[in-house]
Amino acid sequence: MRIDEYTDGPVERWVQSACVLCSHGCALDIGVRDGKIVGVRGRGVDRVNHGRLGPKGLYGWQANNAADRLTRPLVRRDGELREASWEEAMDLVAERSRELLATKGSGSLGFYTTGQLFIEDYYTLALVARGGIGTNHLDGNTRLCTATAGQALKETFGCDGQPSGVHDIEFCDTILHVGINTAETQTVLWMHELDRLRGPDPPRSIVIDPRRTQSARESQVHLAIKPGTNLAALNGIAQQLIENGWIDREFLDMHTIGFDALEQTVSSYTPERVAGICGVAAADVRRAAGIIGEAESLLTFVLQGVYQSHQATASACAANNVNLLRGMIGKPGAGILQMNGQPTAQNTRETGCNGDLPGFRNWQNDAHVAELAQLWNVDLLQIPHWGPPTHAMEMFRYAELGSIGFLWIIGTNPAVSLPELHRIRSILEQERLFVVVSDAFLSETARLADVVLPAALWGEKLGTFTNTDRTVHLSEKAVEPPGEARPDMEIFLDYAQRLGLQDKDGQPLVKWSTPEQAFEAFKQMTKGRPCDYTGLTYEQLRGGSGIQWPCNEEAPDGTERLYTDHVFPTGPDICEDYGHELASGATFTQTEFKALNPQGRAILKAAEWTEPHEWAREDYPFTLATGRTVYHFHTRTKTGRAPELQAAAPDPWAELNAADAERLGIAEGDFVRLESPRGAIEVPARLSGPREGVVFVPFHYGYWDVGDNAGPNGRPRAANELTMTIWDPVSKQPIYKTSAVRVEKVG
Ligand code: SF4
Repeated sequence: MRIDEYTDGPVERWVQSACVLCSHGCALDIGVRDGKIVGVRGRGVDRVNHGRLGPKGLYGWQANNAADRLTRPLVRRDGELREASWEEAMDLVAERSRELLATKGSGSLGFYTTGQLFIEDYYTLALVARGGIGTNHLDGNTRLCTATAGQALKETFGCDGQPSGVHDIEFCDTILHVGINTAETQTVLWMHELDRLRGPDPPRSIVIDPRRTQSARESQVHLAIKPGTNLAALNGIAQQLIENGWIDREFLDMHTIGFDALEQTVSSYTPERVAGICGVAAADVRRAAGIIGEAESLLTFVLQGVYQSHQATASACAANNVNLLRGMIGKPGAGILQMNGQPTAQNTRETGCNGDLPGFRNWQNDAHVAELAQLWNVDLLQIPHWGPPTHAMEMFRYAELGSIGFLWIIGTNPAVSLPELHRIRSILEQERLFVVVSDAFLSETARLADVVLPAALWGEKLGTFTNTDRTVHLSEKAVEPPGEARPDMEIFLDYAQRLGLQDKDGQPLVKWSTPEQAFEAFKQMTKGRPCDYTGLTYEQLRGGSGIQWPCNEEAPDGTERLYTDHVFPTGPDICEDYGHELASGATFTQTEFKALNPQGRAILKAAEWTEPHEWAREDYPFTLATGRTVYHFHTRTKTGRAPELQAAAPDPWAELNAADAERLGIAEGDFVRLESPRGAIEVPARLSGPREGVVFVPFHYGYWDVGDNAGPNGRPRAANELTMTIWDPVSKQPIYKTSAVRVEKVG
């Protein structure tokens, strides 16, 4: 067995944890010497990675030791952020909160969190915001990466939760990749894939992606579609499966509803029509469908290429449809992973820090809300459920309009990661908006805050988190946080105490003070729900492998894959969501859902492909897709401080097709200016994998590490200067893949 390890000299002791730099969540041990983190090694005993680590996991820990960690709170005085005591900073945060609660009500407070905290942090925040303050404005930056994953699972299967496990790779004979490049986004998963692809009896691989990625180079069929045409491609595959009889009729009759409507919708998506829409060969559409049609165990992976496009949920549901048409779910090697992006994104959704109520509860189901009210000992009406929880894009709009006057941004960096950055900066800079930022570094967003709270990072606090295939890991505290930095959970507890948040008996609302107590409370909240954690304890997670939920009395060792009995949580009493009309985003009511009567059957949902809101056109003749590179995570606040990762990818770039570059007289390394209707960036060109007419720019880069002559007023380089304020109507995930730009050489 290969155990990957990287340390900076000898290690005194190893402390159990897992990597927080992508959704694969590889288990690792943290090496400690003299009270400092000095390295990591993979945990061979763990089911997820068996000792392997990718570059971010191996080198990313060095950010913890960066010299510019925040060690004291900062408070804005006379326009400058100045060091302050915790007392002073938290008093200010509580005072502003109380003032707004008294004058404008709970809806004037918003919380925008991350995909990198632990369950214990998130659950405390969810209770404080939803049960204590009573605001509906709590969302995560997981809105930008996994909102569609969760939503598509809800639309098709009634509830969030990945049907498959990562080990299904070992059993599949066909892998369908839709908008995912595992070679860069989840390197250990890619290693696992390569073991199969380069080993005996390899699976066949199909990749749908506008770029010729590493994953595409290893595939039998690469459909290099135009950005914004995923739905047409997947409808085309469904049309071929139905036309050729490559469907599991018995499974469809017994375990799904919606086949007739699906058949009708996809019937016009012939290979020739799909070829015209997507810009690929009709023969390749037939070949892709043929391979899927012959598959005996089909594993489908979906990620941002789908989630960050228009018609995101419709396309992700169309990927679910492909597996359901073939009856490929709940069996070894046959299933779906609507992948997550960030390491603990799953937990924002489970704890209620994303646009859901805790425990995958349905905001339209009064019985679900009553369960929460009872658990938290608050009045039912204290928990906002008059409409869907506010999504991040809407929260920023409310902040722009002034109805949100207090915005607490936790472990995320919207001044680099949200679309249309000039607008985001102008929102955060408003005098009337009180911005609190909790972070480990003075990010681009923190620089615009009124109060900055120094947060402990992974390795500096105790807690649990869950990876993309439902594996729960314990992360022990290895070292003390630097200076006065504090774990996020402690910060929220302090805040709740200062606000005097109480339950309906006048007792403190939050009943826990340690991470383990928070985990126990979270477990009770999940009891009986699909994400049941009640069988897990810290002790059980110590020493061995991570364990997949549901883990309870019936499944004390966890659950490798869901839906092995082909019964889905689509009953009206259990489902997390009553679903949406995919084209418009209209929300179905309980009555409408009951009329559908899925009752344990999966729901085949279909939609017609439509053109994106913005596409290449005469004055902006290229389509921009933003995305990720293997060396960086999110906005580089951590990976940009790991020397090896920073050296591997120090600056952003624009990837162009060689034919486009030649036509524009652009050579490798030339500086190019990309301009959209919203902004411009100037970055060096790389001539590589996108199809003609497409430009790719990594989204990780902002301005914290460049000199005075750079930045939005110097040489702008953040990809989101170019992107647009628009989102998928169902999942509300912003669209990053189809901005129209023009390209010119500038030096
Ligand atoms: S694959 Fe993901 S979780 Fe594993 S080491 Fe790499 S970044 Fe970390």
